[in-house]
Amino acid sequence: MKTLPIHPSDLLSGNDTQGLHVEHVALESVANEFGTPCYVYSQSAIEASWNDFTSHLAPLSPMVCFAVKANPNLAILNLLARLGSGFDIVSGGELARVIAAGGSPSKTVFSGVGKSVSEIEFALHSGVFCFNVESEAELDRIHSVAGRLGTKAPISLRVNPDVNAHTHPYIATGLKESKFGVAWENAVMLYEHASRMSNLSIQGVDCHIGSQITELSPFGEALDRLLNLVEQLKEKGIPIEHIDVGGGIGICYRDEIAPLMADYAKILIDRLKGRSEHLLLEPGRRIIGNAGLLLTRVEYTKTAGDKRFALVDAAMNDLMRPALYEAWHEVRAVKKQGGEQVFDIAGPVCESGDILARDRLLEVHEGSLLAILSAGAYGSSMSSNYNTRPRPAEVLIQGTRAMLIRNRETLSTLWKDEIIPAHSASI
Ligand SMILES: *Cc1c(COP(=O)(O)O)cnc(C)c1O
Repeated sequence: MKTLPIHPSDLLSGNDTQGLHVEHVALESVANEFGTPCYVYSQSAIEASWNDFTSHLAPLSPMVCFAVKANPNLAILNLLARLGSGFDIVSGGELARVIAAGGSPSKTVFSGVGKSVSEIEFALHSGVFCFNVESEAELDRIHSVAGRLGTKAPISLRVNPDVNAHTHPYIATGLKESKFGVAWENAVMLYEHASRMSNLSIQGVDCHIGSQITELSPFGEALDRLLNLVEQLKEKGIPIEHIDVGGGIGICYRDEIAPLMADYAKILIDRLKGRSEHLLLEPGRRIIGNAGLLLTRVEYTKTAGDKRFALVDAAMNDLMRPALYEAWHEVRAVKKQGGEQVFDIAGPVCESGDILARDRLLEVHEGSLLAILSAGAYGSSMSSNYNTRPRPAEVLIQGTRAMLIRNRETLSTLWKDEIIPAHSASI
């Protein structure tokens, strides 16, 4: 088994003359064949992180549901489905993707705060494993839709354990004043409410306390609270079949000490070994984050005051994390050409926030290639067409092969759904 990428640059190989490689493929040849900007993933790195994740948890025989929003490319979902993954979805669109990719709805959990009636119908028709319900109003809605369809909806409540995961406020979700989940204090009452609804079938308890969490103690605290809830429910005569601990385990982007899977697994095993409830998990970033990079070409260099900019052909619309979360991504020059200088790596989008990386010591020349690392999760999936920029191509590397898994968008598809109304008066 290949060792797990624990540092972003572990994805890379190659020497100074050949330039950087992913597996046995030179990034320069990927750029020449598929153009830039381009997302590049390593199949063996995805398999390694999947194996690392699942092997340590094997004593608990969990159902691992990959969080589709981290990377919804059909080829990635198909690869994970073949590895045995289930899926965590947050929209009807993601359910349709899972099905299109050959994933199984019966191994899919449906999370998200705003499920519409049509999404609930679609999920019931498809036979999803469980709805992770995030409010009392949603319980009532699922009950009524299931009643209309003459079926019973499998449900868990997403509970807010009110633990502080010490992560970026935009990705902390387990606090009391969060739009996600139901308050810890109301959970038992809501489960009793659900137990009186004939078209609901209570399956589990669920939480997801945030993302990019690099301390282990919040996971233990959250699980302790869930187990306490399970006991309270048992006393009320409400049996629980599964415990869903969500996702959120962090990775190394820069110098964070990402938790080892062995240590994370121990927290779960210590608390769950020998219990009857089934374990579910919803990892996203941990599986795919360090298995992908964004390849970009330098268009220009320029200086402005004391600043030196490398203007590249990737931008905030392709990789939103730096602009949205001030996230740090490691950047490497694909070929050593001499002449290291400190650069800000900026995209062409008309926003001052369109800086992909600041103050990096790099060998940058017009036309040279840069690899923006740790871009496998929440990279392509958060991309947009802002500034009428087609979204990048995506390529999956498998040993010596580079396979196109998404065409670069073409301009005409960007406005194919737009309509110029027939004009009634002259302009
Ligand atoms: C985003 C999300 C996940 C995945 O989070 P990661 O930090 O990528 O592991 C899991 N569950 C839910 C409900 C989510 O919204």
